[in-house]
Amino acid sequence: MFPAVKILAEITAAAHRVGALMIWDLSHSTGAMPIDLSATDVDFAVGCTYKYLNGGPGAPAFTYVSGRLVSTVSQPLSGWMGHKEPFAFSLHYQPADAIRRFVCGTPQILSLACLQEGLTIFADVDMREVRAKSIALTSLFMELVERECAGHGLEIVTPRMAGQRGSHVSIACANGYRVIRALADRGVLGDFRAPDLMRFGFTPLYCSYVDVINAVRTLKQVLDDASWREERYATVLEVT
Ligand SMILES: *Cc1c(COP(=O)(O)O)cnc(C)c1O
Repeated sequence: MFPAVKILAEITAAAHRVGALMIWDLSHSTGAMPIDLSATDVDFAVGCTYKYLNGGPGAPAFTYVSGRLVSTVSQPLSGWMGHKEPFAFSLHYQPADAIRRFVCGTPQILSLACLQEGLTIFADVDMREVRAKSIALTSLFMELVERECAGHGLEIVTPRMAGQRGSHVSIACANGYRVIRALADRGVLGDFRAPDLMRFGFTPLYCSYVDVINAVRTLKQVLDDASWREERYATVLEVT
């Protein structure tokens, strides 16, 4: 069993021992590492498809429900598509028997079409190779940031042990928000998370080592010439 899944299974078992159910948020792992839930006793999982599954902005979320629970759990966002007989137009709501009861209304077809293409790619992909590339990308990034950006007060807070991290790297930086904005203007898109974290995600299927090298080169530039000090980067935007 893949180490992260083993831990997930153990935590789930501990929850079960005290009579609790467990729901996992897999947004940052699906598509980035092997996550086979079939050998576990996981109750529920949710996640988004626009990160490592490459569904693009607005792509739909997903839900996993254990076969043990699927017919007894009701979901609060009941909708037409989750009805047992959507075209019977009966007056009383009756959920579909299986996982379809978790569907709400009419799905966003254009988003699903993009997601379908994103998922098709995975048919020929070995998730162990995806994970190996992910580790190589994040390791290279951390190594280069440490070497090239020394003296700028950056602190890599992501665990160095590969088994303890996913596919992104967080760096604490006092002026992190402005640095992230300056990077975005130069084509390197990271995230900012308060109070001071710059977060960089590496999608193994299309992120290359050259992308990593170029991103660090740009980061070094922005720090060396202090272009992050530009006044326009001081205004905090709604989405970071
Ligand atoms: C991206 C992400 C989500 C997705 O949330 P949406 O509402 O589907 O956009 C959920 N949880 C975590 C931890 C995430 O990183």
